[in-house]
Amino acid sequence: MIKAFGSSWLAASSLAALAAGAAVPVSHPVFPAAPMTAAQRTEARAAAAAVLAMTPAEIDRWIVLKSSFDMVACPHCEWPGGRRDRKDYWRWSPDRPDELHCTHCGITYPDPRYPLSAVQETVDPTGQVQRFPYYPGKDGYRYYLEGRLDNLRKQHLEGQALRLARLYAATGEASCARQAAVLLERFARAYPHYNPQISRCPGSPRLLEMPILQPAEDGLVTVPPFGKGSPGRDDGAYYPYWSNRRGDGWNGWFYSEMPIGLAYAFDAIAASPELDRLSADLGRDVRAAIRGFLRDTANYARSYPPYAGNMDPSLIQGFAVIGRVIGEPELVHDALRRLQLILDLRFYPDGNWEEGAPSYHAQTVAGLRAAVQGPLKGYSDPPGYVGRDDGRHLETLDIGKDLPWLGETARALEAMTLPNGAHVGSHDTWSPTTNGRALPRPPAAPMPSHLHWGMGHAILGTGQQDTGTQVHLHFSGGYGHQHADTLNLILFAKGQELVADLGYTHTVLAPYVRGSLAHNLVVVDEADQRTGGTAPPADGRLVASARLGRAVQFVEAGGEGAYPDRTRLYRRAVALIAGPDGQDYVLDVFRVLGGRRHDWVLHGSADVDMSLHSTRPSRPHPASLLPPGTTFTLWPNEYGQNRQGKANLSYGLFRNLARGTADDTVAVTMTTGDGIGVATTLLGLNGAAVFTGELPSMRRACEDSSRVLDYWRPTVMVRRDGDDLQSVFTAVHQPIDAATRRLAVERLAAASDDALAVAIRVEGDGFTDIHLCGAGQTTRWHLPALALEAVGRYAFVRLVDDRLEAMGLADGAALTCRGQALDVRPGQVVEVQSTRADEQQPERWALVVRERLAPRPADLEERVVVRFADGMTYGLHLAAIVDEGEGSALHLRHRPGFTIDPDGTTRMTHHPRRTTPTRPECTLPGGGVWERQPEDTPRTPANRNL
Ligand SMILES: [Zn+2]
Ligand SMILES: [Zn+2]
Repeated sequence: MIKAFGSSWLAASSLAALAAGAAVPVSHPVFPAAPMTAAQRTEARAAAAAVLAMTPAEIDRWIVLKSSFDMVACPHCEWPGGRRDRKDYWRWSPDRPDELHCTHCGITYPDPRYPLSAVQETVDPTGQVQRFPYYPGKDGYRYYLEGRLDNLRKQHLEGQALRLARLYAATGEASCARQAAVLLERFARAYPHYNPQISRCPGSPRLLEMPILQPAEDGLVTVPPFGKGSPGRDDGAYYPYWSNRRGDGWNGWFYSEMPIGLAYAFDAIAASPELDRLSADLGRDVRAAIRGFLRDTANYARSYPPYAGNMDPSLIQGFAVIGRVIGEPELVHDALRRLQLILDLRFYPDGNWEEGAPSYHAQTVAGLRAAVQGPLKGYSDPPGYVGRDDGRHLETLDIGKDLPWLGETARALEAMTLPNGAHVGSHDTWSPTTNGRALPRPPAAPMPSHLHWGMGHAILGTGQQDTGTQVHLHFSGGYGHQHADTLNLILFAKGQELVADLGYTHTVLAPYVRGSLAHNLVVVDEADQRTGGTAPPADGRLVASARLGRAVQFVEAGGEGAYPDRTRLYRRAVALIAGPDGQDYVLDVFRVLGGRRHDWVLHGSADVDMSLHSTRPSRPHPASLLPPGTTFTLWPNEYGQNRQGKANLSYGLFRNLARGTADDTVAVTMTTGDGIGVATTLLGLNGAAVFTGELPSMRRACEDSSRVLDYWRPTVMVRRDGDDLQSVFTAVHQPIDAATRRLAVERLAAASDDALAVAIRVEGDGFTDIHLCGAGQTTRWHLPALALEAVGRYAFVRLVDDRLEAMGLADGAALTCRGQALDVRPGQVVEVQSTRADEQQPERWALVVRERLAPRPADLEERVVVRFADGMTYGLHLAAIVDEGEGSALHLRHRPGFTIDPDGTTRMTHHPRRTTPTRPECTLPGGGVWERQPEDTPRTPANRNL
């Protein structure tokens, strides 16, 4: 349960005098309009002049009593060229209301080449036969150009109705109220003639001849139970998932059914005598008609089970506004219930939105905020009213003040932002570049690091945001809008996203962009990763995380659930190393066991052009990387399948391929025209081939499918083939500019009992680093040349002027170099007995264990790794270990994210709310760090001495 809920604003009431559904008198305006200045009034009058001059006959022609369409393609645009893209290329102006202009190809309709020579006849819900002329496309597509115009005129007048109503509220001018009332009455009269329609479908928009769901006696449609039916599918709801009646909105779905602007317009003029006059003129109750119209739209939305998804904030706002304006308190209660569902169920315990896509996170949080601070704020039920579903009475709502969780989610989103202000491009997330916006220069502020421990995304940063380095390792699960991107790497350095995750697109490249090859990871057997499921969890998991003093941040994650049938081990260890004078670099070790083909891929920038240079002799590779007999064709639309038979079609996108061997070290640079980029050194692998080439960089096509093959980025791919492969891909990525001196990277001969262990030396200007990276915490090392012995997952040694400068060990037991032994705290694995997870007592958040551990404060950024019975993990930020009873409590800097029943059943308190049958275990990684201290710098607790 989230902290905010359960207290003031949902207090149960014993009063039950007023039944739900009874008409409630409303005092208008419910939402008083902001006052206008004289200048604003003058401007608004000028903007409203045209609509004020419209005659009733003109208004009737502009608001037709039948369906109209928002999403209609242009018949003149050649494919691929936006015709079937989900992008609106149309331009229309009220000055030329019967013309439609395609900004993509430049044609203006009507055009004699495209006569609306065919007619679709459809029976509307009132029983009337409606005619919809269209131009018949060769492939059967119906170009409803007239229906598109009808919709544009209607939508324009919807905006004008609100303009007039606000002008009336500011000036009291009766003509404004009158014309707004005429428009609203016409909208209300048209609505019963609208068929449910589907516009998001392979062909042209479709009208459905189906009866309208009738409300119960109290005037409301009953909401189906939560959890019945899944978003995107037609189960569990009366109408198809992708449908609405008003014909508006980009997806044409029920989320855009409620006309919130018209509800505000009605609210502003509802008390005006002009409504009485219009009612008298027409001989019917215009207020009742408008209220009925608004109620009908809300009922359409209520006919779906609550999905609690990223679009639900629009429903919450719609129900709140319409409920208050028409005097239907149950709709406000409905809004609150949906708000609670989202907050309780749809965020990871670290505050991230379940979909792992910052764009949807931002959309959801902004929508919830707007509802909480807007139409829900200050709401009170009528005296004695109790909600029919929740049995509650609401009094002067002020949810915002009780909702720290909303602030937490906003901070999590902020921590999923790159230094250039773009959201981290994970999953379906828009890049500013894709949206045609320039990227600002990052500020000269410290580069952040952040472990999104609930979702699964590690960010390691060093230096300043404009000049330093940040590397990302992604390992979230897939819960909507996901990409096949487990263990994807992003590198931001020198002010740019140099190794990028492409993000979101609706173009024909979407099947590629979502697939594994478009990411910086190892593709196994040319298959896209599995992105969902619980047996085993498709979610990645944290293996280890440590900060080793000033120089090193280390993280390792596993993603075996991404290829459960192909791999036994699928792991990536990433360390960000801060060298002297900004000589930063990234150590990147990717281990894969199993499968017959391993493709390690690394892509350059998606924002600017880059060129690639490789030290390996290579020759052009004329053949396609698709299997023989498979020819590549672009997908028809964003819903295409990447897999075609045995082929992963994305491999057909490569161009300018060259091929060489990778038995020995391969050094590749990818640089922009300014010489900024990344120099990657990949240690040689037996029998490996290296491919260089280009793949589409997508973003700069700005969502135009006809331009997606105009922009490319360099790609390097190291391939190994064989039976039951065992690969360790070891790379060093160095951010460079024109002046950067390159690091020297070489493999070290080290004796180890671990076949997957790797030892390397990195030499920079004035320093030498040794990295030992093994597959587990018990890996043993022996390097006679340096008199170096180690046991552990990762060990680091820095020499300056041949003198020991720093040593660090992550998740290990021992490290000795040149006779000096690191003071290592041994690791421990303990069972978690219980947690303290009370949201009301964050200062007590802790894990409780039976063992008596040595009490101590935590090291800098110290993480303990909780492993649940199903293999899922949380990397929890330790604050301190204290004695508690016979055992110990591990105090945390944030909520634990789970609780344990007395019988051991373990329950995640947040998304994805898994339950596991036995107590989880908690690893306190062994390790230590030593750094030579400058004489004048005091020691910190994290930097213990030799
Ligand atoms: Zn066109
Ligand atoms: Zn992606």
